[in-house]
Amino acid sequence: MSKIVFGIDVGGTAIKCGCFSEGGELLEKNELPTRKENSGEYILSDISEYIKNMLVKMELRLSDVLGVGIGVPGSVTDDKTVNKCVNLGWGRFNVADRFAALLGVSSEKIFVGNDANMAALGEYWKGSAKDCHSVMMITVGTGVGGGLIIGGRPFNGFNGAAAEIGHMPIVEGLDFACNCGKTGCLEQVASAAGIARLAGRQNAKEVFDAAKAGDEKMEQIVEKASMYIGRALACCAAVADPECFVIGGGVSAAGEYFIDKIRKYYKMQVFHPSRDTRIVRAVLGNDAGMYGAAKLVLE
Ligand SMILES: [Zn+2]
Repeated sequence: MSKIVFGIDVGGTAIKCGCFSEGGELLEKNELPTRKENSGEYILSDISEYIKNMLVKMELRLSDVLGVGIGVPGSVTDDKTVNKCVNLGWGRFNVADRFAALLGVSSEKIFVGNDANMAALGEYWKGSAKDCHSVMMITVGTGVGGGLIIGGRPFNGFNGAAAEIGHMPIVEGLDFACNCGKTGCLEQVASAAGIARLAGRQNAKEVFDAAKAGDEKMEQIVEKASMYIGRALACCAAVADPECFVIGGGVSAAGEYFIDKIRKYYKMQVFHPSRDTRIVRAVLGNDAGMYGAAKLVLE
């Protein structure tokens, strides 16, 4: 049998695990709970145990594993070091070295990336940006994340913080702080939590439903979020000029109603050569990060 690849997406509540063939076919997917106790120290050992169990089940050996790709919710530098994953309780350490020691393989077989970058890579590989050379993804969920893929490779930046669109300081007039400590971040007005907060509602879905039904105040909140996302994408176009923008995350479930508004505000604010850049909805949903992590190994 040919070799296999694991694509792992570590989230704040669940770990998505995909087992892929060398040819990129998804053979099996599973989900593990994210155990965050003791500063998240069980997370990597749980993944290692999962892989060992899978190998037993498939009657394969460690040498049959081509590599393991791991997406984590935090910034990752090119040497596979994370710099604080607040959601997991992790500090600063080299994920590849630690995980390789647990699994018993060389750290060269372990690939690590930021979760939004992995989602972008997944959409580039198997999703809505399939034929694009460069793609920028923005995930609008509890927070706002971003990922940039150029020629099939995630662009991490020097500090591992490239494409952190959610923390672009582009909003004026806010009098409360973002989770990151700054004030004026995109995330404060465009994330699910930010939209719900500004609207005084329980969740963003309520806000979108009311706006679609014609509630003017709620419509204004959605317009505001769309305007700032459009502005952020216009800023991204001015730096990276990607072939395609992909919108993912829970809030993208609001569908074309939301994407159309983003398109409108993007066109209004972007420098003219990038005016017709496609803005599309992500199609892989929660599996995007898992696909991307596998692709990181195969690339
Ligand atoms: Zn921020």
